[in-house]
Amino acid sequence: MDAVNRYITINNHVNGAPQDSDFELKASPLALSLDPASNVVIVKNLYVSIDPYQLNRMKSFSASQKTSDFAVAIVPGEAIDTYGVGKVVASTNPEFDKGDIVVGLLNWGEFTVIKAGGMLNKLNTMGFPLSYHVGILGFSGLTAYAGLFDICKPNKGEKVFVSAALGSVGNLVGQFAKLSGCYVVGCAGSKEKVALLKEKLGFDDAFNYREETDLNSTLKSYFPNGIDIYFDNVGGEMQEVAVSNMNINGRIAVCGVISEYLDSEKRAAPSMIEVIYKRIKIQGFLAGDYLNIFGDFLSTTCDHLRTGKIQPLEDISDGVESIPSAFISLYRGQNIGKKIVKIAEE
Ligand code: NAP
Repeated sequence: MDAVNRYITINNHVNGAPQDSDFELKASPLALSLDPASNVVIVKNLYVSIDPYQLNRMKSFSASQKTSDFAVAIVPGEAIDTYGVGKVVASTNPEFDKGDIVVGLLNWGEFTVIKAGGMLNKLNTMGFPLSYHVGILGFSGLTAYAGLFDICKPNKGEKVFVSAALGSVGNLVGQFAKLSGCYVVGCAGSKEKVALLKEKLGFDDAFNYREETDLNSTLKSYFPNGIDIYFDNVGGEMQEVAVSNMNINGRIAVCGVISEYLDSEKRAAPSMIEVIYKRIKIQGFLAGDYLNIFGDFLSTTCDHLRTGKIQPLEDISDGVESIPSAFISLYRGQNIGKKIVKIAEE
């Protein structure tokens, strides 16, 4: 039997802000009857993750492309891999059966053909919606957990600042930090987001960075006694002013620098004198290096979800054709929480 696989590709390298015209929806026939000797799994994609780092993969050059298997360059015209959840519709791999719900490296498309050795695991949903396993219980959650607990090591009463705080990673960092007894302030790009941070997610305070003209004074007013931990999702000027407002022995987890992704000339130049004399630790990290703590992260986060101590925040679009606009929305600050595309019903 044959199916048609519709999937998203890029037409060209994308070196500035992503536009609709950079993307194309392609369709190709897909045989669902497999050669028994093929050791292949065909997955019907159900939910796929939409993440900012994909832009760095789409560029003609980015330093990120040579650092990790997850970050390799995307070739124009070819399928784009991403984290996602799906259902096995055909398998000659003895580890998977038709009907299995799986999680792993799927495509921005309707089906993924995964050869032996591809990143794919059977998913135990533990009673949570499938979409949670793409976001809060997937790599976004692991990123927040690893960056906050392994790098920043929060102590009760410490002052924590989070940028892109209503995004997929940021909102969880803030919620985890609150559960650790910290004082947490987030910044985000709209009044609506600021209200959600304070009223729905329990941040102690929040501000709209787009309305501020002097970010250094803004941080001083929110942190009159300084910042102990900065979880950096944006880089740029916000990183510079955060460093200026850090306390002695402060910790900064550099998770992402999204404000620098659209312009290769833009980069933060924090004061290294402040870094030295305040003994600030600044550490970049990749969630993929923390699979050893995935089990701890999962059980802790599931417990918090079950007891209502953590709120999931998802922003789900429908259909493979919505992938380009979902991705572009990240760069326009239009997502509220984890951006996911639902490709199909189970
Ligand atoms: P996200 O925060 O859900 O979405 C991106 C958000 O970034 C937007 O909603 C927007 O929110 C903000 N933004 C966009 N352009 C901006 C700009 N020029 N300046 C300031 N803010 C801007 O995305 P995410 O998945 O949670 O990722 C957050 C950061 O973590 C990204 O930098 C990403 O690359 C990084 N990341 C790193 C790892 C890792 O392993 N190190 C893993 C996942 C993500 P506003 O409304 O607030 O502007």
